[in-house]
Amino acid sequence: MKGTGVKRDYYEVLGVPRDASIDDIKKAYRKLALQYHPDRNQGNKEAEEKFKEISEAYAVLSDPQKRAQYDRFGHAGVEEMGFRGFTDFSEIFSSDVFRDFSDIFEGLFGGSPFGGGREYSWERESRGRDLMYEMSVSFREAAQGTEKTITVPRYAACPDCKGTGRKAGSSWRTCSQCHGKGQIAYSRGFFFFSETCPACGGSGRTSDPCPHCRGTGRVREEAKIRVKIPAGIKDGARLRIRGEGEAGLRKGGKGDLYLVIRVAPDPIFKREGDNLVVEIPIPLEIAVMGGEVEVPTLGGKVRMKIPAGTQDEAIFRLRGKGVPHLYGSGKGDELVKVKVEIPSHLTREQRELFQRFLKSLTPHNYPRTQSFKTKC
Ligand SMILES: [Zn+2]
Ligand SMILES: [Zn+2]
Repeated sequence: MKGTGVKRDYYEVLGVPRDASIDDIKKAYRKLALQYHPDRNQGNKEAEEKFKEISEAYAVLSDPQKRAQYDRFGHAGVEEMGFRGFTDFSEIFSSDVFRDFSDIFEGLFGGSPFGGGREYSWERESRGRDLMYEMSVSFREAAQGTEKTITVPRYAACPDCKGTGRKAGSSWRTCSQCHGKGQIAYSRGFFFFSETCPACGGSGRTSDPCPHCRGTGRVREEAKIRVKIPAGIKDGARLRIRGEGEAGLRKGGKGDLYLVIRVAPDPIFKREGDNLVVEIPIPLEIAVMGGEVEVPTLGGKVRMKIPAGTQDEAIFRLRGKGVPHLYGSGKGDELVKVKVEIPSHLTREQRELFQRFLKSLTPHNYPRTQSFKTKC
């Protein structure tokens, strides 16, 4: 049916109602994409067409603008926007629309025939790879924010040829890899793909390679990158730094750099969301008689009042002394849990004094014990 100009309704193709949410559309496409996946239907021309058809439907219905145009004017409306569906698989896999489905396409496209990382193979082969960098920060740096310079080994554009891969002053000749066509065909299973020629970058012609980068247009470098870590960031958070990944092959765009933040534990502070939790020992006399203690906070030590008769593990709240909210303004609180320290290593004299004191106590001094006893 393909090529005759008779196209099925996109909603019908994906089997979703016209008012389907984007999530429903995504789910429907995922299910069908797995069913008609070229890997599972090797040599099956019908499945191949079906795969293209559902991918085309998804490309349109997942894009709000194209979908609105399609709803009003049908297939002709989308064509008017310059969208004509897909002619081969490499076009589908290189389209940004399908980034969410990299897990589906990975198996099929595992490793581009021209090398490159498995996880990036569905991207255009000329774009630089995204890089992942694990960055450790201290507990306090994460809570208060910081700026650091990191060293990232990566491919950068060759300074001699400015990334073109061409030796200065050399003359052009027809590319021997693609015989001037700019495209190279290869097969994967029963499927034929065509890709931009890696030797000439699709131009169909080559010249003498730049001796510095051997024609790749890229050289290794240790990039020093200044990064800003926002206050309130959590362990495992990812920061994306656009354009700080690897340089692409020849004129391909740069990849992105992803920072994965690892927050080191702190000997004093713990985090519960944006609240700080700290446990401090207080002497028995302060718990009994009341008084003031010093409490560590992110901004330094502060004095905190302890009321008379404070029990072990009582929690006090210092408002606004916690971690800044990563999104929006304001801060969490600091929760101070007190651990009452019972005096130890008593001398004989101290024991006797304590005995005398204890004899003076009445059940009235132990309301909790009394109330528990009445329940038993
Ligand atoms: Zn070069
Ligand atoms: Zn070529």
